[in-house]
Amino acid sequence: MLRRTKIIATLGPATSSPEALDSLIQAGVDCVRLNFSHGEAAEHVQRAELVRELSRKHRRFVALLADLQGPKLRVARFINGKVELKKGQAFTLDPDCDKSAGTADRVGLDYEDLCKDVHAGDVLLLDDGRLELEVTAVKGRTVECRVLIGGCLSNNKGLNRRGGGLSASALTDKDRADIVTAARLGADFVAVSFVRTADDIQEARELLRQAGSQAAIVAKIERADLVHNEARLEAVIRAADVVMVARGDLAVEIGDAELVAVQKHIIGRARQLNRVVITATQMMESMIHSPMPTRAEVSDVANAVFDYTDAVMLSAETAVGEYPVEVVQAMSRICIGAEKHPSTHNSKHRINEVMVHVDEAIALSAMYAANHLEGVSAIICMTETGATPLIMSRIKSPLPIFAFSRHHLAQHRVALYRGVQTVPFDTETLPNDEINRLAVDELIRQGIVSRDDRIVITKGDYANAQGGTNTLKIVRVGSEIR
Ligand code: PGA
Ligand code: MN
Repeated sequence: MLRRTKIIATLGPATSSPEALDSLIQAGVDCVRLNFSHGEAAEHVQRAELVRELSRKHRRFVALLADLQGPKLRVARFINGKVELKKGQAFTLDPDCDKSAGTADRVGLDYEDLCKDVHAGDVLLLDDGRLELEVTAVKGRTVECRVLIGGCLSNNKGLNRRGGGLSASALTDKDRADIVTAARLGADFVAVSFVRTADDIQEARELLRQAGSQAAIVAKIERADLVHNEARLEAVIRAADVVMVARGDLAVEIGDAELVAVQKHIIGRARQLNRVVITATQMMESMIHSPMPTRAEVSDVANAVFDYTDAVMLSAETAVGEYPVEVVQAMSRICIGAEKHPSTHNSKHRINEVMVHVDEAIALSAMYAANHLEGVSAIICMTETGATPLIMSRIKSPLPIFAFSRHHLAQHRVALYRGVQTVPFDTETLPNDEINRLAVDELIRQGIVSRDDRIVITKGDYANAQGGTNTLKIVRVGSEIR
């Protein structure tokens, strides 16, 4: 059975060898994330080439997502690589401390302005919230703290403030350089971290275009000040192509009590605005070291599927975990199971709206016809840019949407859209009245449809024209198709 919810796997040491990557792709990964917070540009370029090569080999369309580091604040390094912080002890964050000479008393950091941003009483969180510090005093450039929740703190761990509001510009100099690398390695998606405003997205888009890339932009929603400002959040969603519920940093900033409701809100809003949405971080965390997920993780993934996320993402699980293939298989199994639930099978999406564009009206009509007519087993959609399958896949449905396209861009972009599968198909050389029949033949050949199945087809009168979708046809396998 085809899985509708897409899986993104972050690459790292555990999944860098050709063998490991090969198994990951065979396990069904739809998109790989190159995490620019770690590793050198050359490494990412090499991984990207390998992914393209292996997906060609397996005839799969695996999208590449380049994830920019953004202005994530981090502590520097420790003399011994790590320290143990005890509850109640003093600990100082000091930009003037030698960057590799941290101790259990003090550690360096790159961000010079921390002293200006925090005040006594603020709570700072280290290592995705595993450790908590309370600011006791700001003296000159140093920030003195007391440990509220202790534990092991190792090199380069992240630093956040409860309530958010730390740090300035979303695109750092490193991000600007990495955008050029992302363009060079042919990224299909580029993710901007710690987005504050729609302007951050606009700026990233301009830089990408200057570098010659048509990549879609992912806005990572991970700042408390953004999710607490509805107008700004809305503008960010509209400015982006895809949004990510980046729960790692987001949960640390807003606290776990609010997180699940915020996830539901962002997913719902993104889909209403015709945007794609990714749910990320700690979905299968225990599988970094265990071959089986916990019940809570099973529920978390299923809940994201019920929320109707387009994709679920794995981070450390596949980057450094011990069971990268098993975790993808487990996630896949959970998604397929959850997708059987009737709540994900139909929708009233945009039913009361007035449409402006013909292609949108056709896309939505096609989905309503498919969901409500007996015997439909697939939707075929001829697409140049992937725009029609995007609109279609905003509607809940148990039926697969096949995006037939000759363009690399569309073929890979739809890899992230819930329920959409790529079929490479070149209509340019085909006579107009044979396109439908040949498309259906292709699904018969792939064993997806069989005799007497109904298929919903959309295309434009003039094949190969962008935004020209104006026809909706319903055919039956075995009857004459034109
Ligand atoms: P990160 O982003 O893994 O780059 O931090 C995702 C998140 O914060 O959840
Ligand atoms: Mn993050």
